[in-house]
Amino acid sequence: MIVALKQGITQDDSDSFIASLESRGLTVHISKGENQTVLGLVGDTSSLDPEAIGAHHLVAKVLRVQEPYKRANRLFHPTDTRINCGSAKIGGGFFGVMAGPCSVESPEQIVAVAKAVKAAGAAFLRGGIFKPRTSPYSFQGMGCEGINLLVAAKKETGLPVVSELMEIHQLEVFDEIDIIQVGARNMQNFNLLKELGRCSKPILLKRGLASTVTELLMAAEYIMAGGNEQVILCERGIRTFESFARNTLDIAAVPWLKQKTHLPVIVDPSHATGISSLVPAAAKAAVAAGADGLIIEVHNDPENALCDGEQSLTPGGFSDLMVTLKKYAALEGKTM
Ligand code: PEP
Ligand code: MN
Repeated sequence: MIVALKQGITQDDSDSFIASLESRGLTVHISKGENQTVLGLVGDTSSLDPEAIGAHHLVAKVLRVQEPYKRANRLFHPTDTRINCGSAKIGGGFFGVMAGPCSVESPEQIVAVAKAVKAAGAAFLRGGIFKPRTSPYSFQGMGCEGINLLVAAKKETGLPVVSELMEIHQLEVFDEIDIIQVGARNMQNFNLLKELGRCSKPILLKRGLASTVTELLMAAEYIMAGGNEQVILCERGIRTFESFARNTLDIAAVPWLKQKTHLPVIVDPSHATGISSLVPAAAKAAVAAGADGLIIEVHNDPENALCDGEQSLTPGGFSDLMVTLKKYAALEGKTM
């Protein structure tokens, strides 16, 4: 971090300000110009708030040169993090596909979809139990009853399961859930993130609807700062002025995130587009962009789905896509 001091301040003032920075464990390089003094702060500046420093009466300008996230930063952890869930792997050269319905709807539905996605080569089964819906009159998910159905499908197929948690107290019923999903709407629910930092399961953290990638990384940092280093980031489309699709898939965010962090990065082409016919192309683009995996909605009867049918692939469509994705992953040097 670089701090330019105001012109004309006394030596005593500048000395005591520098001493206060040093007392926070930082080394301060002082460069004295004719009119102005500029300080270079070296050390762990991740806990410094540039706005607070900028508000100091002696400070003219502050410039952050290092990213504000540390644990998620590739600089301090150059090798890729791999998340292991039984035999399923994501990151560090492994490409993992999570697939399943937006929501668990019935025992028949979840078992049929689970078997189909497993046969097609998915490594994880997804299924929402607690659903964040825009309208309070829309299907809200099956709740705790749905957990049992998802766990039954896990036992039947052997696939690890991923499901979204909306509130801290729901952790009590997530014992058998292998990966906890934090949805886009909760990406900055900091109390939830802190609590998940204390848990020992991998967290699938989805990018907020209007969040920058730095905000996504800072949300991951919340979880990691609590001690849970197993975070998977998910690009799921963001809000833009464009309205042909449900969201705008920010494909360049994938290589950008891969440069900035060692955490696995996956893409959700279903929520990113909202249109099932666009899902295969978006999924292929994600592999080519360097993603470590995908989360794709698949439904055995999309037309009658209780949630997100218009963006869901049929089991057949998913199976065809997986044949192509395997070739793409191989081209990228990833094991799928
Ligand atoms: C979902 O995965 O079902 C979901 C609600 O996603 P998002 O939080 O990205 O909207
Ligand atoms: Mn959905």
